Amino acid sequence: MKAFVMKDIGKVGFMEKPIPEPGPDDAIIKSTAALVCTSDVHTVGGGLGVFVDRTLGHESVGTIYKLGSAVKGLEIGQRVAINAVTPCFKCDNCLSGYTSQCQGLMGGYKFTFQKDGTFAEYFHVNDAEANVVPIPDSISDDAALYTTDMMSTGFMGAEHANIPLGGTVAIFGQGSVGLMATAGAKLLGAGLIIAVESIPNRQEMAKRFGADVIVDYTKVDPVEEILRLTNGIGVDSAIEALGLQVTFENCIKATKPGATISNVGYHSGEFRQIPNLAWGLGMSEKTIRTGLCTGGKVRMQRLLRLIETGKIDPTPMTTHRFKFEEADKALDLMKSKEDNVIKPMLIF
Ligand code: ZN
Repeated sequence: MKAFVMKDIGKVGFMEKPIPEPGPDDAIIKSTAALVCTSDVHTVGGGLGVFVDRTLGHESVGTIYKLGSAVKGLEIGQRVAINAVTPCFKCDNCLSGYTSQCQGLMGGYKFTFQKDGTFAEYFHVNDAEANVVPIPDSISDDAALYTTDMMSTGFMGAEHANIPLGGTVAIFGQGSVGLMATAGAKLLGAGLIIAVESIPNRQEMAKRFGADVIVDYTKVDPVEEILRLTNGIGVDSAIEALGLQVTFENCIKATKPGATISNVGYHSGEFRQIPNLAWGLGMSEKTIRTGLCTGGKVRMQRLLRLIETGKIDPTPMTTHRFKFEEADKALDLMKSKEDNVIKPMLIF
């Protein structure tokens, strides 16, 4: 089969690999569609280490090609979606309720990080009964793809932000994860959603997904503007969806005492500085909550239900479509962020 792999730091390519075999609890999925993620760009840049000939990708849907001997309740040929995080649901961290940290720090993230990812004609999924999720007939592959990471991660950002019903929230960054954090905040009943973003098509999209006010940080100081919009008090919750020092700091500065700062951004590089005054010298009663999406069947079923009942349509985020054979072009586009890209889709 054909696979799209990381060759070295900054280098990618296609190669032939054998179709993987399932262990007793596992499944092999035949790919039908995938989305390219900024995390793939970070990975190729060496964010998680050097992975020679490791298949990239973790946002995929497909059909069941093969099942392990012990797997029950699934059938060959079923259309399925698999979360980017595929925990074992057996280890101490999973049983403590932190499935994203399965068997160790960020250990639920197995695709590319621990084994081959999903940018291949076939891919392996561990613990299939918990992680391989049938897609209802009424949901297209295009929509179901968003449950695998963008909705799962973005909604987690909103869930972790502890937004009071009718409360105020600022979301920094309106890439696909930030947009889904905006949509999640709306679904959770935020009273005022402030989206910080400068790119026009992302501002448009943010409004579509529920932002009440757009703050363009290239035109105004975002912290001052958020304070102005909240009578000088600050927001109940802030969501960091970029992974930059400046936005992390602004989340702390733009929140009121007792607020929650929910981090979903991928912070590569240096340790982030906390602005001490906005932190109340350590006594502001503000909480920073970090997380990685939980994965698993129940989470996926909830996300699919939101699409099925019309609460959200994530498909407008698919700005570009490529054949799988053009995965290198799609990855380049995700890296350059040119042509107003939000999400490039690969079709197998
Ligand atoms: Zn992703």
